[in-house]
Amino acid sequence: MFDVIIRDVSIYDGTGGESFVGDVAIAGGEITAVGDVPGTSEDVVDGRGLAVSPGFIDVHTHDDFAAVVHPDMWFKSSGGVTTCVVGNCGMGAAPWLPASRMARALHPQPLPEWSGYRGYLRFLDGHAPGVNIAVLIGHGTARQAAMGSDQREPAAAEMRAMKDIVSEGLEAGAVGLSTGLIYDPGRYATTDEIVELACLMRGTGALYATHMRDEGMGLLDSVKEAIAIGERAGVPVQISHHKASGRNAWGLVAKSLELIEDAQRRGQDVHADQYPYTAGSTILAAVYRDGALGGKGLGGLEGDAVVIASAPGHRDWEGRSVVQIATTMGCDANAAAERILAAEPGATVVIHTMCEDDVRMVMRHPSTMIGSDGLPTLEGKPHPRLYGTFARVLGRYAREQKLFSLSEAVHRMTGFPARKFGFADRGTLEAGKKADLVLFNPVSIMDCGTFEDPHREPAGIVALYVNGKLTVKGGKPTGVRAGKVLRRAA
Ligand SMILES: [Zn+2]
Repeated sequence: MFDVIIRDVSIYDGTGGESFVGDVAIAGGEITAVGDVPGTSEDVVDGRGLAVSPGFIDVHTHDDFAAVVHPDMWFKSSGGVTTCVVGNCGMGAAPWLPASRMARALHPQPLPEWSGYRGYLRFLDGHAPGVNIAVLIGHGTARQAAMGSDQREPAAAEMRAMKDIVSEGLEAGAVGLSTGLIYDPGRYATTDEIVELACLMRGTGALYATHMRDEGMGLLDSVKEAIAIGERAGVPVQISHHKASGRNAWGLVAKSLELIEDAQRRGQDVHADQYPYTAGSTILAAVYRDGALGGKGLGGLEGDAVVIASAPGHRDWEGRSVVQIATTMGCDANAAAERILAAEPGATVVIHTMCEDDVRMVMRHPSTMIGSDGLPTLEGKPHPRLYGTFARVLGRYAREQKLFSLSEAVHRMTGFPARKFGFADRGTLEAGKKADLVLFNPVSIMDCGTFEDPHREPAGIVALYVNGKLTVKGGKPTGVRAGKVLRRAA
């Protein structure tokens, strides 16, 4: 007797092996049988014409506070995601004061408080989010807490304060440490500072994830730095949102992928994640720096390539480029950016900076797993990757463009990230694993959001099970929240 049996379904088991038709049975929150399953259940799902796979693991999110203020996490579960890794790009959930200040750009509403990573994870334990959550410790948040925005090396006491924060996070069960080396204050950190902190993770299984210093013309030096940090500290490396940003840098990913291959050949554990779009998204403050538009900055962006995604006090700016806003203001793009930032310091933007050939080259490469990097602003016009990342990889890149097989695409968002991030009991469909499952239509699965209309659920997600509980049915939320905190195994 099982809680649920999905019959005659195409099984993509997350290993990357070929799919096969069979049954999947769930009981007590676990997968109990896969294949030709005898036995009965009151809940038999007809899987004919459908595919089932492990729930998607979004290894690159900024959902730390969204998991608290939007706990159903519909923007993720509607796209088949059952696990989110939060705390990327140096922005963590603790200490609370700098964390909540950084989160204000995404969440202007009052935020509940907690103490440390332990307190954050306990809060989530008590308020079951819609998907499972694993945390990275944010280096930028730790540095802000220890020494503010100072543009210098930490004094000994400040270094100790940062180490205490990292140690507390690791003891609480964090799966790694992240940096955001284009952002304040992460960009003031030297390589040595990061190595010293990353050394605390040696032997723990926790990894180093990095938004690198420069994804434009400095991409190769940045990848070398990330690899060197992993090598010196003796920890696995995850390069965040691998890309070449800005026209001058296009094509450099061929070389950065080689650097990853070289490191792997030397025995290093180095991988990357990617979102499947030629546009990025970040905060305007990081794009506009030192008169960045039209020359320096993130790959020398022009003002028409920078579109306001979220400006809570100025909704009329959302969806418009800096050049368009400048025209209305009667000034040039740099002056407009300054005025926007003065009014909306946390404004987020969509930036059109990549080329399709690079996106495809990175995606095809075996070092790449999938991560959305979605910014969970539920008002405004966030980058559509927030909802559509996984469906887009499956529908557009696997089914339509045949960049890789559907089973390989599923592997890049299930078994592969589960192995990298240490989710030993998830990521593959086999008896004994936790019952995180997505049932989807392989013929129709596709992202539906656009830059103009981003709040759109993907097509083709039929059902979602999180820890054995049905959270999405017929593409609609059931109202059940069954996510758990995934702590690093000791
Ligand atoms: Zn980032």
